[in-house]
Amino acid sequence: MEFKPAKCPNCGGELQVPPEKKIVKCMYCGSDIVVQKAIDEMAEENMASQMDLANTAIKSGNFKEAIEFCNKVLERDSRHIQALIIKGLAVGFLDKPKESLNYFIKVIKLGGDPQLVEEAQNMIASDYNNKGKKLLLRGRNSYKRLEQEAPSTFEEDPDRLRIKYRKDAEETAGNDFLNANDYFKYALVFISDDNKLPILKNRCEVLKEMKNFKYIKWKGFDPEEELEEVLNMIHKEEPDYEIGEGTVRKKAFSGEWMPCFIATAAYNNPFASEVNILRRYRDCYLKKKKLGRWLIGKYYKYSSPLANWISKTERRRLAMRLIIVSFIKFINKYLVTKDENEFKIDS
Ligand SMILES: [Zn+2]
Repeated sequence: MEFKPAKCPNCGGELQVPPEKKIVKCMYCGSDIVVQKAIDEMAEENMASQMDLANTAIKSGNFKEAIEFCNKVLERDSRHIQALIIKGLAVGFLDKPKESLNYFIKVIKLGGDPQLVEEAQNMIASDYNNKGKKLLLRGRNSYKRLEQEAPSTFEEDPDRLRIKYRKDAEETAGNDFLNANDYFKYALVFISDDNKLPILKNRCEVLKEMKNFKYIKWKGFDPEEELEEVLNMIHKEEPDYEIGEGTVRKKAFSGEWMPCFIATAAYNNPFASEVNILRRYRDCYLKKKKLGRWLIGKYYKYSSPLANWISKTERRRLAMRLIIVSFIKFINKYLVTKDENEFKIDS
């Protein structure tokens, strides 16, 4: 007969029990104990002590040892969150970020604390930085893996990304957004700082879309808060960056808000594409030239009363619109050479 190690749930006495029996008597306290329960009790205690050993090992830098202890626990319980995190950490410290990422993703999928995962990943990331290792290469690897797993999240074209996610979100009540955001988060941990910008921008797009789906319950997730955070990160690199309506594009103008009074009056809409064109013309062309800056100054001095006058009748507005359209044609034809597309009217 084969015996298994077990522990009496009553007195804690260590026993050897025959697994095929249902109930046995404890040789220490004499109580009837359920065999399976006693075996589980022992296994759990074993796992706890294995985890203690794994913890000690990783703290003293014995990563291989830590992995062995975690493996013993994971053999019994492949969904053991703590073991998955410690193994992910140990593997990461052993320069296998790709593999490490697998464990962390599993933790998240099992409902583990994302904060914990983020901390673990930050530890690995700073370890790489401390060692001065080339994170870029490793980053690319994990990026690629994520790319395979979630190809749509890495589409270059933000418009297609948006349409795809809107569709996905409608179909799956937002799960894909959450996943996409998570994937971007993971990818960011492993990518060197000089390469983070495009992913941050993609993440922005996803978060912006999430924000639009107010009817979806985000399980305590606040896209607006994260969006602000991500935008702040981007603005450190690119102060002009702004997420557009539908597409990612650069801010139409930088610095203070300077409306084109006249064009706004003519179109009765500060966001008319013609108004945007004029703004871009002002910021990309006029502002860069001395005469241009002088003209802008004069314009803002006199345009407000003129705009007022124009806005009074529809006929004046129409006349002004004709002038603006000819003016845009003129600047496109004679003034703009490099950034031609910048000033086209998008219908
Ligand atoms: Zn007992």
